[in-house]
Amino acid sequence: MLVDGYSWAMPFVMDAAERPPDPACPTCDEPLVYVETEVSSGAFRTQAASMPQMSIHFYDCAGCGTCWKLGTRLMPDPVRQLLR
Ligand SMILES: [Zn+2]
Repeated sequence: MLVDGYSWAMPFVMDAAERPPDPACPTCDEPLVYVETEVSSGAFRTQAASMPQMSIHFYDCAGCGTCWKLGTRLMPDPVRQLLR
């Protein structure tokens, strides 16, 4: 559903030149594999217009099978790990 033409939390593949270099896995030190990016304001809808939007980059680790997301810092992504 679109609200004022804005689609919430829509994943897309960001060009490698526009996103940070792929980080290494904090658990096993393997290079992480980029999956997709979501843009999220992290705000309630009524606040969204005045909030800066933040890109969340998602990565998978081929070494240990852990999923990661990179916003302000690299964190495990337990939501996606349940899907594996
Ligand atoms: Zn790993």
